[in-house]
Amino acid sequence: MKRLVILGGGESGVGTAILGKQKGFDVFVSDKGKISKKYKEVLLHHKIDFEEKNHTESKILKADVVMKSPGIPDKVALILKLKEKSIPVISEIEFAATYTTATMVGITGSNGKTTTTMLTHHILKKGNLNVGMAGNIGDSFAQQVAEKSYEHYVLELSSFQLDGIEKFRPHIAIITNITPDHLDRYEYDFNKYINSKFRITKNQKTTDYLIYDADDEAINNWLSKNKTEAKLVPFSLEKEVAYGAFIKNNNIIINLNKDKINMPTSALTLKGKHNTKNAMAAAMAAQLLKVRKQKIKESLEDFEGAEHRLENVAKVYGVEYINDSKATNINATFYALECMDKQTVWIVGGVDKGNDYSDLLPLVREKVKAIVCLGLDNQKIIKTFGNVVDILVETAGAEEAVKVARKLSEKGDAVLLSPACASFDLFENYEDRGRQFKKAVRSL
Ligand code: ADP
Repeated sequence: MKRLVILGGGESGVGTAILGKQKGFDVFVSDKGKISKKYKEVLLHHKIDFEEKNHTESKILKADVVMKSPGIPDKVALILKLKEKSIPVISEIEFAATYTTATMVGITGSNGKTTTTMLTHHILKKGNLNVGMAGNIGDSFAQQVAEKSYEHYVLELSSFQLDGIEKFRPHIAIITNITPDHLDRYEYDFNKYINSKFRITKNQKTTDYLIYDADDEAINNWLSKNKTEAKLVPFSLEKEVAYGAFIKNNNIIINLNKDKINMPTSALTLKGKHNTKNAMAAAMAAQLLKVRKQKIKESLEDFEGAEHRLENVAKVYGVEYINDSKATNINATFYALECMDKQTVWIVGGVDKGNDYSDLLPLVREKVKAIVCLGLDNQKIIKTFGNVVDILVETAGAEEAVKVARKLSEKGDAVLLSPACASFDLFENYEDRGRQFKKAVRSL
């Protein structure tokens, strides 16, 4: 019996444990922290051996294969030891993919993964495909492989998950964009992070597709220097492409076969240029999987969007409140500000990830009437924008920030929470930040 050791007892770890057990492995789950009650119950129910608050090396180094949660960096001593002993260390995606013959759409990028994943899933479902959604989103991929019989999967893939693949081969890969993020895990080398994203295409063959943003410098640069066997399917807001998707006279044109798609960008439920790109990527994936053109259009027109991504919360006293708490880097906030069509009170700040705010200066000059800082350390924001906006106020909680924003806004304005920072100084995570914001707005 082969021994599967799983490091990390969260969603992906427990899912992998269930699948491993089903496939006849001797499974052991080890978590250095606490395993939540919910997951412990699942492990006990499946009679899976586990430990918490410790990694017992003697039990771990006996593994034939190790599944590592994407949260654990490659450089920690235990992982280095496993590698020294030539024990394969893989991700949930790699493990689970070997046990399904489903067609896979893998989606990665610095921003837009969740939106594009949900949108692609939505279109495929409306196109009557038997499709599951997994990866960084929803229920564990491995558990779904163990328990469901989907013929297609749409997978949201982080660079950390891609670092742990060997043979994983999506029929369709999407790279939404690549901008610096998570560089602390890549020795502060942007190229390493780019290479990690492009692992998504490394096993693709000539019958597979790589859908990508042809306006993205980092992507174009990689493609000019490296090879992939996949058929390249670009999308662009800036130029026409012979094969792929582009914009002409405010219409999306998709040019993959005789069945050209042509629809006005104004018909999309998701607003903003970035979402037009996400829509082009998702629509092309669906068309490559033979979903009918009419269904694709309908799905783009009725997709409701994901929580915390440019989510319209409410209109209070004529002011629009928008929750974009998921904007945890500059690029995401850039797109949020870009699609604001009202004078905006901008709530920004949190844990800085090495931000350079200067890219936002032109948009802030044009659209932002006041800044409300929502973080413990606001020095960089004050330094960059202090002289650009008339009013800048520091706050230390969602409720306070919303109250201040209400005072600073007037009928016809918008209040946008788009922090460009991580949330861990004042909140549990970006969801908590978004929910607290919405609660405060609703109680105005
Ligand atoms: P991810 O899962 O990659 O973090 P999300 O879909 O959750 O991406 O979106 C994260 C943030 O990025 C949101 O604030 C959203 O408004 C913004 N965003 C979404 N799509 C794009 C895109 N294609 N380019 C840039 N920013 C985007």
